[in-house]
Amino acid sequence: MTDDAETPKIIEVADGLCVRQEIDNLTWIDMGDCGIVVDALEQPDAKDEVFAAIRRTLAGKPLRYVLNTHTHYDHVVLNDAFRREFGAEIINHQTAPVGPGGRWFRGSRRSLHWIHMPGCHTDEDCVAWIPENRVLLVGDIFGWGLIPLTVNLRAETAKLLLDTYQRLIDLDPAVMISGHGPLGDKTTLERWVEYFHWLRGRCEELVAAGLSDEQIAAEIAPPDDMKDWWRFQSWKHADSVSKMIKPIRKGWL
Ligand SMILES: [Zn+2]
Repeated sequence: MTDDAETPKIIEVADGLCVRQEIDNLTWIDMGDCGIVVDALEQPDAKDEVFAAIRRTLAGKPLRYVLNTHTHYDHVVLNDAFRREFGAEIINHQTAPVGPGGRWFRGSRRSLHWIHMPGCHTDEDCVAWIPENRVLLVGDIFGWGLIPLTVNLRAETAKLLLDTYQRLIDLDPAVMISGHGPLGDKTTLERWVEYFHWLRGRCEELVAAGLSDEQIAAEIAPPDDMKDWWRFQSWKHADSVSKMIKPIRKGWL
């Protein structure tokens, strides 16, 4: 079964603000005087199609910046091509680190706040907030049911994760664009936080009752209202259960 988010398509989130979706999401934004792209895919084959679509939207305006939410391979493959063909500057936490106040890109049509929110997925994680449209791009901080950490879940990393989610929720996004999969919104972020707390409680109970990892995995079914979350039932829920059991057994949480 193929999910809708895996079929290539362009979604116009707002006038001049488009997402190309095909497992990876690539977004381009007409700022008024120039264009900005957020994230640069993993498939070089998509280049011609993506570049043509961006040129159509920008209608002669220069594409100035390509922002990478982080530099995992599946977010940067077209960076060089963007530099060559558009003369775009590549901005990520390695090429242009931002301080605590973030960095504003201001256009005549809309503005973009580039904010470093490290530690949920990588130490480089940055998010883009477009207040005029209440659009939030979170990279891989949100993963449709995944615990996004690439380090172990512990008391400190859990706190950072939940604090960061609260900062994202406080922005009150009408549209949330994650690195992969369908579009969400503020309620999607809130639902994941609720899931995280629920999963932790269930795992703690079942570990205390002496169940094995396999028994716990079998016992904790994915919540009904999340069953259609992208790839959640096929593997993400099971992955989150195992990422939660380990630190509970080790006493890290
Ligand atoms: Zn990543």
